[in-house]
Amino acid sequence: MTISTKEPDFTAPRQNLVEIEKVMVELDYLKRQSERLDLINQLHGRMAGVLSLTGMIEAYSVWLMPLISHELIGYNNSARQKRHLFCSGHGPHRRKTIAFAERLINGEVQFDKPYINENGHFAYKWVFETMEDAGILLILKKGMELSEDEMDLLNHSLEILAESLQRGLEYEELFERASNDPLTGLSNRRVFDERIGGMMDSANRYNNPLTMIAMDLDKFKAINDNLGHQAGDDVLVSVANVLSSAVRSTDLLVRFGGDEFVLVLDNTDLKSARVLAERLCSAVNDLDVWADDNTRLGVSIGLAELKKGESLKEWMERADDILYHAKAQGRSRVAHK
Ligand code: GH3
Ligand code: MG
Repeated sequence: MTISTKEPDFTAPRQNLVEIEKVMVELDYLKRQSERLDLINQLHGRMAGVLSLTGMIEAYSVWLMPLISHELIGYNNSARQKRHLFCSGHGPHRRKTIAFAERLINGEVQFDKPYINENGHFAYKWVFETMEDAGILLILKKGMELSEDEMDLLNHSLEILAESLQRGLEYEELFERASNDPLTGLSNRRVFDERIGGMMDSANRYNNPLTMIAMDLDKFKAINDNLGHQAGDDVLVSVANVLSSAVRSTDLLVRFGGDEFVLVLDNTDLKSARVLAERLCSAVNDLDVWADDNTRLGVSIGLAELKKGESLKEWMERADDILYHAKAQGRSRVAHK
């Protein structure tokens, strides 16, 4: 029997322990990475289903809330004149938070990252150089500050948000182009077709009056012929401005084509519509545009309140016939028979 003279290695178990700890740390890191990836995938999923900028900011806030509790997420793009603020609070508190965000975005307070206001709210701002210096503002719940880990998650997720917002911007601009008349900026016929059915349904269902004001400029061809096509364009823009300053957000105003405009007044009967139509008629006269010494720009207007059971086609034909009367009776007037 041989007896070993070698000393037992007391360091071996310790080395094993260190190895195990290292592996555990690595496993923990991988686990967190995988959780992070899972979260990021969820964010991708949420963003994929949304088209509007407002919807994206809201979806991002909903995704972020359980991870980093916050008061407000704001998006501001001065170059494209877009600003969307999504605040999860209510009442006066909500108004205060929004006012605070507005002050920060407007640059009314100098912003060192993070900014802390008098109520103890922390605000952080990110600016995307790739997106015309558009920025994201995050206002946290009172007394909270971002940890390094949270900042890391935010930076990662904001890349996804930025990408989505760019897509949202392009979509909204295309949509606006498809919905607006490029000369006057008014809605076009497509918007009329899209909205009119809903307005008629709702008027019929709730028994509310709905009145159409059909308008066609008088002697507009003479403006083009005598003053030039550009002057004609300028006149159309001025008329559009006069009309849009008179409408409410629930009304539907469109340039129907050429020198024709249609205004549909929600919840308005013939009598009230007539008051507005007379005002519009005078306002166009007051533009004081003359094609020649005897020919002043005016507008002829036909009014028709939707009748029970009337179809869109019938209603529009009736409004057009009434407009024809206004022309036949001497132009620059309102007809409503
Ligand atoms: P009436 O009093 O009977 O309405 O006659 P009018 O001279 O106004 O002529 P009408 O309504 O029949 O035709 C409208 C004209 O508007 C026809 C077209 O030359 C002109 N027009 C249509 N679109 C534009 C535009 O975008 N810019 C300009 N400058 N002119 C346009
Ligand atoms: Mg005309």
